[in-house]
Amino acid sequence: MAGKQKVSKEQSAEAASPPLTTVPPATERLPEILHRLQTTHPDAKCALDHNNALELLVATILSAQCTDERVNLVTPALFAKYPTADAFAQADRAELEEAVRSTGFYRNKAAHIQQACRLLVDKHHGEVPADMAALLELPGVARKTANVVLGVSYGIAEGVVVDTHVKRLAQRLGFTAETDPEKIERELMELVPHENWIIFSHLLIFHGRRICQARKPDCAHCPLNDLCPSVQM
Ligand code: SF4
Repeated sequence: MAGKQKVSKEQSAEAASPPLTTVPPATERLPEILHRLQTTHPDAKCALDHNNALELLVATILSAQCTDERVNLVTPALFAKYPTADAFAQADRAELEEAVRSTGFYRNKAAHIQQACRLLVDKHHGEVPADMAALLELPGVARKTANVVLGVSYGIAEGVVVDTHVKRLAQRLGFTAETDPEKIERELMELVPHENWIIFSHLLIFHGRRICQARKPDCAHCPLNDLCPSVQM
């Protein structure tokens, strides 16, 4: 997360590659790209296991620089041990660090989770607020995490989630030449219709995991290969 979180995925910024192939402008390609992504990934959704907004908030903090699969291995025991914001707030820090150790950057993550939960207890009765400004006050929470919680838990499209997959695909698909996640988000918010903001991120994340992977994009089997300026066959 850009801004407050030191261990964000987005901070590992790579320069956007220049387009390799000429295609129509992004606004013309977007509707068909969305349609094909929805057909290809009808199961696209948040991949972090959770039962409520607090669990999603914690899981999203843990997902920085870590796979969702790894986070999902850690969270069942974590949420059983700390079922409320108050429980996280009062946790023994060393025990909390140990519980999240395998997700990496565990000291920062444990500190962010505990400080965020203390603020939730102090200001929000232990609940996760459905409000961007209030979420951004929480330690360890920048726009990506806030957008995930608002979109997935509350169905509120306040912005577009830009994680490492969304960033890479937005660049490859020629939707942005920016490398800063917040600038990319602003461009995507202009390009993508508001009603598609939440599903758009899920679709790009699934496509990034399954087909357009960072090191080996499978352009030959990609359903977007006639619409993508970065296609390589
Ligand atoms: S896999 Fe290739 S064609 Fe498909 S979106 Fe990625 S770079 Fe473009």
